[in-house]
Amino acid sequence: MGFTLPRKYGGLNCPNLVYTMATEIVSRADCSLMNIFGLQGIAETINAFANDEIKNEYLPKFAEGEVTGAMVLTEPDAGSDLQAVALRAWQDTDGHWRLTGVKRFITNGCGEVLLVLARSEPEIKDGRGLSLYLAERCERVKVRHLEHKLGIHGSPTCELVFDDCPAKLIGERQRGLITYVMALMNGARVGIAAQSLGVAEAAYRVARLYAHTRKQFGVSIERLPAVAELVADMKIAIEAARALVYETAKVCDFENNNLRVMEFKPPTDPDEMKRRRADSRTYKRLNGMLTPMSKYYASEMSIRVANDAIQVLGGSGYMQDYPVERYLRDARITTIYEGTSQLQIVAAVRGVCSGAFDSFASECEAAEYSDADLAALKQKVVEAKRQVLDAIQFIKQRGNEYMDLHGRKLVDAALVVIIGHLLLRQAAACERKKAVARRFIETGLPTLRRDLEVVRSGDTSAIQEFDLIAGPPTVNG
Ligand SMILES: Cc1cc2nc3c(=O)[nH]c(=O)nc-3n(C[C@H](O)[C@H](O)[C@H](O)COP(=O)(O)OP(=O)(O)OC[C@H]3O[C@@H](n4cnc5c(N)ncnc54)[C@H](O)[C@@H]3O)c2cc1C
Repeated sequence: MGFTLPRKYGGLNCPNLVYTMATEIVSRADCSLMNIFGLQGIAETINAFANDEIKNEYLPKFAEGEVTGAMVLTEPDAGSDLQAVALRAWQDTDGHWRLTGVKRFITNGCGEVLLVLARSEPEIKDGRGLSLYLAERCERVKVRHLEHKLGIHGSPTCELVFDDCPAKLIGERQRGLITYVMALMNGARVGIAAQSLGVAEAAYRVARLYAHTRKQFGVSIERLPAVAELVADMKIAIEAARALVYETAKVCDFENNNLRVMEFKPPTDPDEMKRRRADSRTYKRLNGMLTPMSKYYASEMSIRVANDAIQVLGGSGYMQDYPVERYLRDARITTIYEGTSQLQIVAAVRGVCSGAFDSFASECEAAEYSDADLAALKQKVVEAKRQVLDAIQFIKQRGNEYMDLHGRKLVDAALVVIIGHLLLRQAAACERKKAVARRFIETGLPTLRRDLEVVRSGDTSAIQEFDLIAGPPTVNG
């Protein structure tokens, strides 16, 4: 614990990239356990935004593993839309803050330190009326209910009732959602992406071994083309997602490091300060795109890989004799919490359309490959970027609703380009990765072309003809 906390609080001061790798490893062992490990993000948020008194009181306890945290945001009427949070924060006659209301679906809600998003300004109905509070576990917070869920059974999901519970304000009033929770969630999203990698890797290892040892028709099933393709594509999917997630964690480190230098050791040379400020804007914009992309891509990948692992094991995969059915149930949560895939796409597509994609891909294009195969593959990825940019122009002319409708396809296409470049970079340093990069790009490009064709088609039938296609709502009974 205390992986990324400063040493003065007993932390390890590790870069986010190393923490991300550790998160993947913990998740490979146990997806539920990772939630406790990942909730170190609570300590990071305290470190980033709370006053020294709060930091000195709580951070050493986090680093020691003496306390664990919970991120207390969701309410019955405020899920994806956190601007609707209604839990009330009010000041008693002594000026002390109190919290009153209900939160649901809270991972580790029975933990000792709760970061609670609450409405401190009742007259302001949107996100600007929300502040962030620290509440300790006490008799004024009740776990009213523990959820019964599909997976992650080792991770308690709680409904919490706050009964005028004492609390401390974190940072400034009204910045709860807009500044603090957004920062907390961005870090947590990279954490869930790493969790997704870990579950997928665990499922892959079982499937890989089974494909090698299981014999049918007189051969190991890994020698049957259909199984070989399944296994190979599982491996490529994991390595593609890992390349993206680690790149994202690296850019987070660049951003954080740059901010720390400007805050604690500001350069005296005005030109350097100017450069650092410009870097800061670039990293922020890039992270605004890469973080939701990573969460979306890795979580969707982990469900696919865990599902395919069951297929590789056949009937045995469906039974509880092997852990793969559990991996699928565990993986299933990753596209839902910390913002659903749909919400990640809403965030990622804004980045794709606002120039972050173009500049990141252009930067990758500067790489020169002496290997002729890699150079040829790079040209294909360069051409693919051009097609994505054309589709972006088309989508922009059609407005926001069209962008929301086709966002997933546009983001998927952009991901083929970005990950294609990242895998080519790896292939230049590792012979085996050439095969990975080649297959990823050669199989990814036809999918990209298909997606972009739909994007450019102007089709809006899912919205325009929704009632006709979906029919009236009916109760299955
Ligand atoms: C096991 C588990 C643990 C959790 N842990 C925590 C926790 O520790 N702390 C916490 O605060 N919360 C936690 N959550 C809550 C979780 O973050 C929410 O469930 C999630 O954000 C979705 O909110 P919702 O369930 O209300 O779904 P809704 O917001 O009602 O969404 C329903 C559907 O509508 C889609 N949708 C909604 N808005 C949009 C939009 N603008 N564009 C496109 N599609 C949209 C969604 O993608 C989804 O498909 C947890 C949930 C679970 C299941």
